[in-house]
Amino acid sequence: MKKIISFAIALLIAFSATTFIVSAPLVADSEEFTQEDAESLEAAREKLSQINERQAELSSSLKKYSSEKNSEVKAKQTLEQQMYETESKIETIEWIIDNLESRLAEKNEELNIAQADYEAYHEKYVSRIRENYEMGSTTYLEVIIMSENFSDMLTRYDYIRDMMDYDKQILDTMCDNIAFIESIRSEIIADRNEQQEMLELLSQEKSSQAAQVVDLKSRINYIETNIAKLQAEQEEFERLEAEFEKQINELLDKKKKYAGGTFMWPLESKYSRITSGFGWRTLYGKKDYHYAIDIPADKGAPVYAAADGTIIYYGWTNTGGGNKCVIDHGSKLMTHYNHMSAFVPELQKQFKEKGSVDVKKGDVIGYVGSTGNSTGNHLDFKILYDGTAYDPSLYVTPDGSKPQKDIMDLIN
Ligand SMILES: [Zn+2]
Repeated sequence: MKKIISFAIALLIAFSATTFIVSAPLVADSEEFTQEDAESLEAAREKLSQINERQAELSSSLKKYSSEKNSEVKAKQTLEQQMYETESKIETIEWIIDNLESRLAEKNEELNIAQADYEAYHEKYVSRIRENYEMGSTTYLEVIIMSENFSDMLTRYDYIRDMMDYDKQILDTMCDNIAFIESIRSEIIADRNEQQEMLELLSQEKSSQAAQVVDLKSRINYIETNIAKLQAEQEEFERLEAEFEKQINELLDKKKKYAGGTFMWPLESKYSRITSGFGWRTLYGKKDYHYAIDIPADKGAPVYAAADGTIIYYGWTNTGGGNKCVIDHGSKLMTHYNHMSAFVPELQKQFKEKGSVDVKKGDVIGYVGSTGNSTGNHLDFKILYDGTAYDPSLYVTPDGSKPQKDIMDLIN
């Protein structure tokens, strides 16, 4: 017990250093529930309610952070997906550019060859012309002289001219081919430049997405740090809650300890006859165990609390008891009072408000009647210890003389 208390105090000190300033309640060592105990109980209850308040705050903060984290994680996933898409676009464009570059290289080579061919052919052509020119009229003269007739001369002359025309045509075709290759080449270059611009844009997009992902990661880390802090605090508060609950329960157990002394007869001593005792009996032709004693009395005769205690049931019961009162005397001792005609209005009011009412030994708790399963005005009186019924006639006497058995023997 002392260990638990000092542990609770140590926790209280650690606790007060951060959030609360508390005076440590102490459970006094005496067996009786003292005024000091009552104050400690109240302080502990107040502390517990503060703890519970903070716990509610913590769980709502945690909820908030968790949902924030979820949305940030989702945003990050979306961005990562977009980044992945950007990356695959970049890969495709890089592949296209590679292709364009190799086609460009091909075209460059083609162009080189076409130009070289042209130059070679052109050189031949030029030299042929030069030859013809240098030969000048000789050639023409030769042609004419060698010609058998005018017609033949013309034919020969035409032949030379045709040859020259043919060369010119080939050169033109080669020239066209070069122009064609060049046009394709410039198309490829334009295409490549366009793709490179696109690549540039996509790279920028990718770096901006990457930067956003980094931002989100640090935001998520920040939230996770806060969540961890709150969870640590939550754990600490759970420990504190358990400690205070334990302390409260210890105090309540002490409070609920039966103060001692014999039980008193629950009616005026003139109502001393027992019509139906504790044990086996035949009721309506059936064997039945009677867990109480039946004491006949006038309707409206006051019913007294057999000892100090707390009324924990005060109302109608459908189990046959009619208007019923149950008193908890502490130490697991209880008394039941059945079939009453009426309740005490003030007690009824308090019971409705608080769910329990403290009473003293001898307080009027109701009035004799015949409600429920009853054939006449009487009090059905029951004594229980730890849920087991004991014969009341052994523990209480109508005149207050020493009973056969001591109620304290049940407890000890
Ligand atoms: Zn009875």
